[in-house]
Amino acid sequence: MPLSIDLTDSHTRAEVQAKTRAATTPDDKTNLIGLDRDELRAALIDVGVPEKQARMRASQLWQWIYWFGHQDFSAMSNVAKPLRNLLDEKFTLARPELIEEQCSEDGTRKWLFRFPPRGAGKPVEVETVYIPESDRGTLCISSQVGCTLTCTFCHTGTQKLVRNLTAEEILMQLIVARDRLGDFPDKIAEGSGFVPEGDRKVTNIVMMGMGEPLYNFENVKKALLIASDNEGLSLSKRRITLSTSGVVPGIERTGNEIGCMLAISLHATNNELRDEIVPINKKYPIEQLLDACRNYPGVSNARRITFEYVMLKGINDSLNDAKELVRLLKGIPAKINLIPFNPWPGSNYECSDWEQIEKFSDFVNANGYASPIRKPRGRDILAACGQLKSESERLRKNERDALNAMHAMVTGHGAESDT
Ligand code: SAH
Ligand code: SF4
Repeated sequence: MPLSIDLTDSHTRAEVQAKTRAATTPDDKTNLIGLDRDELRAALIDVGVPEKQARMRASQLWQWIYWFGHQDFSAMSNVAKPLRNLLDEKFTLARPELIEEQCSEDGTRKWLFRFPPRGAGKPVEVETVYIPESDRGTLCISSQVGCTLTCTFCHTGTQKLVRNLTAEEILMQLIVARDRLGDFPDKIAEGSGFVPEGDRKVTNIVMMGMGEPLYNFENVKKALLIASDNEGLSLSKRRITLSTSGVVPGIERTGNEIGCMLAISLHATNNELRDEIVPINKKYPIEQLLDACRNYPGVSNARRITFEYVMLKGINDSLNDAKELVRLLKGIPAKINLIPFNPWPGSNYECSDWEQIEKFSDFVNANGYASPIRKPRGRDILAACGQLKSESERLRKNERDALNAMHAMVTGHGAESDT
């Protein structure tokens, strides 16, 4: 039975909160994280930096903020002292409140952030998951709190949309992950969770957390363009994957305006079943979705589209489905990720038998498509695909009991990593 090493015991929780509380004291300073280069320049001009200098100053700041991960203006050694003081008076680089960090026995970590309400309502809570593997470290980032879509096998889909995340909040998930992992130059890891060897701890990001990124296009685009800027966080666009349930009009824009890799949550090979389990299919049926994939800007055999396919026992896992899948994807540079269904309290599905998943995979492979089975990672802390649902809706006691019972059953084949 997987064992959850919960670092939220009183000591660690207090430690995490103390670290972030100071940083999140409400004040009216503008946080510079999430501003693009032009906005940063404009913000500097606004507080009195001469226009002639502003571009150069913005460049310096950009490096300190995103390359070095500094949180403190006073450490920005190539910025004159009076300007550092002014920056400190007007702006902040404060991190959001990190209210929980959980570590799975397999090294996966899940962070729970609290962000301000930004308008009406209560503060919101958001989950981010880090999955270390031998050759990479993948960060799974959320784009919304909850989701407007209601895919029947997805835990997030049971949480109504609360709001879109801002570009700042999307980026903060990456930045705080790098803070915690000691993944900025000359910084050391915070806390006691597992940190893999290697220069870069976060090598890949996937927009596969809570929410539908293409329903928050502008903020996601802004955050990803900042994340891939090579004088800053410098993640290659080939190592950034945006996953959509099939918001067709956003697909071409993703290729043209962001230029990252694309993943499609397909999960069914006919419209009747997909209408049921991925209801956005009623608006954009399979044919339209696959046309958009065929025309995805930049798609090629070297830049394949990933099709995610959750393995639901007795629902979509027959060899006939495998055959249909191969037929549908003909002509599209594709790879297929088979995701063993990750159960959550109250879910109505079972994961396909392992033997069946292997048969399905073998068939798809034999027909020319790579079809790795993704290892479920972090299931014990509900960090695996589709299990995220923030503590904005805390688990009730009976849900927790169900979860514990489920842990006892989960044997640990495993999802976020290709086998
Ligand atoms: N909303 C986007 C991004 C979320 S990605 C999308 O749907 O693509 C999360 C991936 O995990 C999606 O492919 C989703 O369909 C899949 N998923 C959701 N619930 C799951 C579950 N319980 N088990 C396995 N995969 C699941
Ligand atoms: Fe939303 Fe994606 Fe979950 Fe569907 S699978 S409910 S689109 S987060």
